[in-house]
Amino acid sequence: NKQDIIKKEDFLWEIPQTFRPQMLVPARVIASETLLDAIMEDRSLVQLVNVASLPGLIGASLVMPDVHEGYGFPIGGVAATLYPNGAISPGGIGYDINCGVRLLTSQQNAEEIKFKLEELSKEMYAQIPSGMGKGGQINLNPKEMDEVLTKGAEWAVDNGYADKEDLAYMESNGRLDNADPAMVSEMAKKRGSDQLGTIGSGNHFVEVDYVDEIYDPIAAEAYGLSKGQVVVLIHTGSRGLGHQVATDYIREIMAAMPNYGIKVPDRELACVPFNSQEGENYFKAMCAAANFAWCNREIISWEVRKAWKNVFGADVDPLKLMYDVAHNIAKIETHQVDGEKLKVLVHRKGATRAFGPGFEDLPKEYKHIGQPVIIPGSMGTSSYILAGANRSEKISFGSCCHGAGRKLSRTAAKKQVNAPVLKEKLKEIGIYVQAGSFKGIAEEAPIAYKDVDEVVETIQNSGIAKKVAKLRPMAVVKG
Ligand code: 5GP
Ligand code: MN
Ligand code: MN
Repeated sequence: NKQDIIKKEDFLWEIPQTFRPQMLVPARVIASETLLDAIMEDRSLVQLVNVASLPGLIGASLVMPDVHEGYGFPIGGVAATLYPNGAISPGGIGYDINCGVRLLTSQQNAEEIKFKLEELSKEMYAQIPSGMGKGGQINLNPKEMDEVLTKGAEWAVDNGYADKEDLAYMESNGRLDNADPAMVSEMAKKRGSDQLGTIGSGNHFVEVDYVDEIYDPIAAEAYGLSKGQVVVLIHTGSRGLGHQVATDYIREIMAAMPNYGIKVPDRELACVPFNSQEGENYFKAMCAAANFAWCNREIISWEVRKAWKNVFGADVDPLKLMYDVAHNIAKIETHQVDGEKLKVLVHRKGATRAFGPGFEDLPKEYKHIGQPVIIPGSMGTSSYILAGANRSEKISFGSCCHGAGRKLSRTAAKKQVNAPVLKEKLKEIGIYVQAGSFKGIAEEAPIAYKDVDEVVETIQNSGIAKKVAKLRPMAVVKG
């Protein structure tokens, strides 16, 4: 109920800890008043309140303006637990471990490539395997699989799929050191063995965009963005491998939970202490799946670069990686909580890390600006590039939203959208969509998502990140 929600500041709302006896901390929502009203229409806030009772939770449980309900935890949520004995929960990370987005910049502008757009979108569709369960060109043997799980994006560099320069432009350099392939089941490895370089289905995409507007010229210059420039967005994660890791460990952790005397308000919040055997095993497996995802986005970049050369010629300026962000992941970080520096495990599920200027893990050209934050909108609307701001470290454990956020369920979208008509309409406004099925297009129609402009405006107003550039889609390859 709205009367249970207190306005703490403009764009920051709080459900106090007194709302439910189980809550260990307050629950907070970053939203405009209109977005808050919309958020109250599904179970997101019930889930947010549930999260506030996880063992070891500190500060507050949080959701971003793009929030919608998910498995146990809301999508668009942030939960930080005390390290090392607070909870780790697979549901707070999601089934698609290290789902994330990267952006590649070109040296071409939109006018220059317009006449080749249809050809480019077909060539990309041919080069990038897409669709549910779809395999790619690379088949990993068990030894290679272990290497991918250990090295992440570096595996792609070592095997000739990418230049070393890319690594500096990824969160954590595209590799988490705690990964242990032995903690990933044979089933998970089998599901992933032919999925490197594939995007999967539905919400995942590779998209050609152009920079439509620059809000912050200094930050844009540092990120290598300029008005009219053509860029490429890649959105996907750890495919069947990550999904299987999540499935395996949710089962194991649900069974183990009573051994630690943990009770949660919703079974889907299943968790164990981070420093328990099950917790450590899951973390090592999660890191391995995250590495698989980074390697996957790197191999997809190789496919995009190949398509680019096939269409524009071998001498075309190479596509440069601007940045790669993870939006389904948990990381050990240090944060200031109530005046005290604490080591915490930050679960980000449908949320992007957004550290401000001065943050260590950033390429040197970006250090004075803050971390690039990539916010996809939909295949028919704008997407945004933001820069993390120091205020995120004060109110959101250095986190920001990850998209516009779903508004309609897939079923509802399918009922409302005539996909062939939509595809034609998008083509009329200069957006070429290539998808495996019309069903996929309907489920992912722009009306299925919230208003990305409003979500991003809210983020900007809350001060956790600031707008750098707006993108417009030109060609979309959908799973
Ligand atoms: P998720 O990771 O939650 O599936 O999706 C992240 C965000 O991507 C969604 O909230 C939505 O705003 C955005 N999105 C989904 N499909 C597309 C697309 O085809 N193009 C772009 N630019 N964004 C999309
Ligand atoms: Mn995903
Ligand atoms: Mn995603």
